[in-house]
Amino acid sequence: MKSIKDKVLAEYEKGNIVVAGIEGLQTMPIKEFIKQPEDGMLYDLNRLESVVLTFIDDPKWINDFAVAKTIRVLKARIAALESQEEKECYNCHDKVKMVSKGEFCPNCACDQ
Ligand SMILES: [Zn+2]
Repeated sequence: MKSIKDKVLAEYEKGNIVVAGIEGLQTMPIKEFIKQPEDGMLYDLNRLESVVLTFIDDPKWINDFAVAKTIRVLKARIAALESQEEKECYNCHDKVKMVSKGEFCPNCACDQ
């Protein structure tokens, strides 16, 4: 197990994650991994809720379940942030992604 731990940690240093699946260990860039839909990520991580709930005798399932739900909410939050249109600030005319429908960008809003 020590060598697997070394491999996992070494790959992480290179920007990769290692996941254990049916076909053994798989290594992939984490930047690419997080681009896939949440179901794909949770499947690769073996943390789909339906899977997690089959390990109900191991208390580890509670946090695994929480991890799955957290990933789903974070993916939804990222999608919401990325879908925001850029709008021109009334004050400085910078094009910025507005968090709310304000007239000023966050930079100018601080000065008001
Ligand atoms: Zn502004």
